[in-house]
Amino acid sequence: MFPEITRPSPNFTATPAHERLGVCFHHSALDFDATVEHILNADSLVSYHWLIAADGTRCQLVADEQIAWHAGASEWLGRTRCNDFLLGVAFAGNTYHAPLTTAQVASALEWLAPRWAQHGWTTAHMTDHRQITPRRKDDLAPAEWTRLLAAIVKKFEAG
Ligand SMILES: [Zn+2]
Repeated sequence: MFPEITRPSPNFTATPAHERLGVCFHHSALDFDATVEHILNADSLVSYHWLIAADGTRCQLVADEQIAWHAGASEWLGRTRCNDFLLGVAFAGNTYHAPLTTAQVASALEWLAPRWAQHGWTTAHMTDHRQITPRRKDDLAPAEWTRLLAAIVKKFEAG
């Protein structure tokens, strides 16, 4: 198991029950420490539910039950305001400069495992920032998204 730590961000919207229809994956562009600092700054108006460090450590920034501010103007499966219904999970770093680490991919799968059945997710419920904000955001790098999705398929949907 990868370690989990908590660094509560002020940047969230309280809601009775986040829909958790799926997951939007991001890269944060910054390294882990700089990302946490940014997310804990109320002036940034940005947050993710979880941030995954290069060594696989997972940091919870916003509770799954609340709305994190990760997607911005966005659309997925015909709905806008994706923050209302997608969890935001970011990988520290920039996938255009360096691929996801093996630990980051393994940690994401470990994080998904208890939620997969709980929320009735399939790979169709997995997306990334690039796909829900065409021409506005570019994370993840397409090759890294393909790699991550293949790992998810292998773990949860193969055979
Ligand atoms: Zn993003």
